[in-house]
Amino acid sequence: MDLKVNSVRGFKDVFGKDVIKFQAIEDAARMCFEMFGFKEIRTPIVEKTSLFQRGIGEGTDIVEKEMYTFIDRNGDSISLRPEATAGVIRAFLEHKLYNASSLHKFYTIGPMFRHERPQRGRLRQFHQINAEVIGSDAPLADSEIIWLAWAILKEAGLFEGLRLEINSLGCPRCRPQHRHDLMDFLNNNKAELCEDCRRRIDKNPLRVFDCKNEACKKALMLAPLIRHYWCPECAQHLGDVLDYLETINIPFVINPYLVRGLDYYNRTTFEIKASRLGAQDTVAAGGRYDRLIEWLGGPDCPAVGMAIGMERAILMMDMDILEKAAYDNRPDCFFITFNSEGRGHALRFMNKLRDKFIACEMSYDKKSMKAQMRYADRVGARLAIIIGEDEVDNEEATVKDMETHAQHRVQFDRLVEWVGKLVDEKRG
Ligand code: ATP
Ligand code: MG
Repeated sequence: MDLKVNSVRGFKDVFGKDVIKFQAIEDAARMCFEMFGFKEIRTPIVEKTSLFQRGIGEGTDIVEKEMYTFIDRNGDSISLRPEATAGVIRAFLEHKLYNASSLHKFYTIGPMFRHERPQRGRLRQFHQINAEVIGSDAPLADSEIIWLAWAILKEAGLFEGLRLEINSLGCPRCRPQHRHDLMDFLNNNKAELCEDCRRRIDKNPLRVFDCKNEACKKALMLAPLIRHYWCPECAQHLGDVLDYLETINIPFVINPYLVRGLDYYNRTTFEIKASRLGAQDTVAAGGRYDRLIEWLGGPDCPAVGMAIGMERAILMMDMDILEKAAYDNRPDCFFITFNSEGRGHALRFMNKLRDKFIACEMSYDKKSMKAQMRYADRVGARLAIIIGEDEVDNEEATVKDMETHAQHRVQFDRLVEWVGKLVDEKRG
């Protein structure tokens, strides 16, 4: 009988080099959030299914066919979150955070769940870095969100081959006429469209632009585009966003076919694509969603947000970033001992050194000098600190520089200071 149980398809373990990559992008994100003044919020993985049905919209791929939805033991329908925004807005409303001040900047980092076909850059559990600016309809808020996504990717070392595509989806003033004309066009060209898109015509025609089917893409080349319907305010709003992006040197291209898969977006919508990612080339996406908060039972409150797909960012990461991170992860000291007295001294020194943020390790089992040295070498220790019988008798330690192979005897009472200085020098 095979007792081995494997992981679920589309759910991945993260270990080794991938962990270092995840940490690198997370560190970059937290650093940028601090620079941009965003505060962290952590919401539950599970929400009531109705939150996503209302917040993301019936008729979206996510709600129609990608959600992990369960009936729990109380008979309530709950879902694993497929994205972060709905949960953040729910928390924002539930805790009446909008009473505190007029503008709120939140971020959250964590796993999302969608039942899609797993492939490169597409998983069933994936991770997002998410940011929302709540309480402003100003174009500056849009450019700040885009700037933030750009800055995080750059800080993580991922600027090569990035392309920002941007569009405006208009507003309740300019959308109805476009919707009307688009529906006409789609009905006249039904034969060219896939089954999903045909269903979308009446539900949410704009989303046909999000279809990945090549035949649909081709059929849509002649479709009426929202840009020809923008009201003066929407045109001005996008113009201002683009001006600000120019000021901070973020290059962009306007993609008039760009829409979002989620129902609640209006005005600015954007994607950051990476040429080296292949088919799943969108590494970050976002836009404005001025009506969502009202839809979820809150006040009339504009907002704009973005999400970076961490797995896709990680696919772009270079080896040299990794090697630097791996280098920084080396222990500073490896203690080598042969008897209980030596181990006692080693533990006391490790206690003091670790308090000074000097990374220390030792072997847990009794091993030969050669075996312990080999281990120190394998983990990349900067110094080996040997406390053998002779050292114990003389109240000294032998400090071996693993790079230069230089060796010194150092008195116990000077060891912590001595090692501290040496490690400082070696770390550069
Ligand atoms: P796609 O068109 O690739 O399905 P989407 O429009 O569904 O993307 P969003 O809901 O906007 O994606 O999510 C933002 C980002 O999260 C995406 O740009 C992508 O980087 C990442 N992402 C979305 N779905 C997945 C997934 N199944 N696996 C890995 N990353 C994902
Ligand atoms: Mg999708």
